[in-house]
Amino acid sequence: MTRHDLPRPSPERGHAETSWHRAYLGLGSNLQGPQRQIQRAVDALRQVPGIVIVAVSSLYESAAWDVTSVQPDYINAVVAIDTSLAPESLLDAAMRIEGEHGRVRGPERNAARTIDIDIVLYDDLNIHSARLTLPHPRMHERAFVLRPLAEIAPHAHVPGYGEAATLLRRLPRSAIDTVRPVAQEA
Ligand code: AMP
Repeated sequence: MTRHDLPRPSPERGHAETSWHRAYLGLGSNLQGPQRQIQRAVDALRQVPGIVIVAVSSLYESAAWDVTSVQPDYINAVVAIDTSLAPESLLDAAMRIEGEHGRVRGPERNAARTIDIDIVLYDDLNIHSARLTLPHPRMHERAFVLRPLAEIAPHAHVPGYGEAATLLRRLPRSAIDTVRPVAQEA
């Protein structure tokens, strides 16, 4: 199998002349029915021209991380996509969906949110632009990203750090265990 364990983009999609890229998106929500919010975000991503959903991880629950106020627990998932969108266009699509799904950006960093869509990885790109950092900062040490990522793509390569499953194994057991798989609502 390939380095990311999931089938690669193929010309059968009818876009033989288009270049397709494997990306992983981290989805998180801790407001207004988080499981439903994640599902709605996946559905919205599926509608975006130039995005094909390849795999969706299980949902995982964990306490809010790096916050300054009391917040509900988060539900997180990782989605593997193939995309013909350039990284910044993919970010535009993600931010548009966040806005349409009630995401309000206030002054508080890491405030509670209906939906957060981060680009975790995009091919093997390293980017440090004004709008975009890839791989996503600190994803290599966050169990709530690595656990769902390693579930669907254990060999996904995090540039500069290594494979998702290896990075997950390197975290303290206590950190891994704080991220619990949840039974999906019907
Ligand atoms: P947040 O939604 O609070 O996680 O942060 C979104 C902001 O982070 C946006 O203004 C983006 O420009 C910026 N950003 C930088 N790198 C990324 C990335 N890899 N994925 C998503 N947003 C990013």
